Amino acid sequence: MEAQIIDGKAISRQLLDELKAEVESLESEHGIKPCLATILVGNDSASQVYVASKVRMCEQLGITSYNTVLPEETTEEELLEIIEKLNADPAVNGILVQVPLPKHINEHRILFAINSKKDVDGFHPMNVGRMVIGEPHFLPCTPHGIKVLLERSGIDPSGKHVVVVGRSNIVGKPIANIMVQKAAGANATVTICHSATKDIASYTRQADILIAAIGKPKFITADMVKEGVVVIDVGTNQIGVSSTGKRILCGDVDFENVKKKASYITPVPGGVGPMTIAMLMYDTVKSAKMMNGIK
Ligand code: NAP
Repeated sequence: MEAQIIDGKAISRQLLDELKAEVESLESEHGIKPCLATILVGNDSASQVYVASKVRMCEQLGITSYNTVLPEETTEEELLEIIEKLNADPAVNGILVQVPLPKHINEHRILFAINSKKDVDGFHPMNVGRMVIGEPHFLPCTPHGIKVLLERSGIDPSGKHVVVVGRSNIVGKPIANIMVQKAAGANATVTICHSATKDIASYTRQADILIAAIGKPKFITADMVKEGVVVIDVGTNQIGVSSTGKRILCGDVDFENVKKKASYITPVPGGVGPMTIAMLMYDTVKSAKMMNGIK
């Protein structure tokens, strides 16, 4: 058996096309243009690339982007002041502070200062709490993207054993929480593994759906999965640079060998990655509708 590839690029494109149409009708029918405010502090080159791609995506969809670029030495108080202004600005629907922030700034204090109704990244404790009790407002973008990938591939986690490897606050913990909810597109039995888990393979082999968010190239090998497993590979590991200067990426899963046993598998790149930015756009449009009382 050879796995069916879950094409994250195609699924995200479909979602983005739907969003573009929605943005057009919001403007023509209600005179509303969604607006995402991004804040970038310092000179981290990866962060600059991430923010630039978010801004580009906004442009493609007709979403206004309002970008603040601040020097490395910006103080926590200065950053909080800017966030307060964006919180109070009715034209701003989403606020995204690109992380990591410079070391002298307390990341939690900054993320918690964002108005939870504009927290399109879904990291504010109010939104995390709402997710846990099954009353979500905004879900964190990468786990939300995984849920949509499964839904749009016709894979129903209900009654299945979902094994998540990794327990970060941005991927592992939230996707486990989302999958365990008594809700459509979820309702799974969930196991979370991490670096202190003994004999990880004994858990991964039980997985009907395996979600790898570890940050270690090809960590999940073919002997660690059962026949027919659905594999979602979140890992984005740079393993080199091509002759044209492009980053060579590899997932947390040994794709070539695991795909011979799996029923479905996401590639890296082109799997989970494109969904993350699509869900950010989705949340920005959702916020614009909610702030304007539109269903
Ligand atoms: P992270 O914060 O570094 O967390 C990694 C998790 O993996 C931790 O919970 C860690 O366990 C666990 N882990 C590490 N080594 C392990 C081992 N040998 N055995 C079992 N568990 C182990 O990483 P992250 O932010 O979740 O990201 C994970 C990967 O996904 C990275 O490659 C990242 O680049 C990628 N990513 C991709 C997207 C996307 O949009 N495609 C978004 C976010 C992240 P402990 O908790 O015990 O340390």
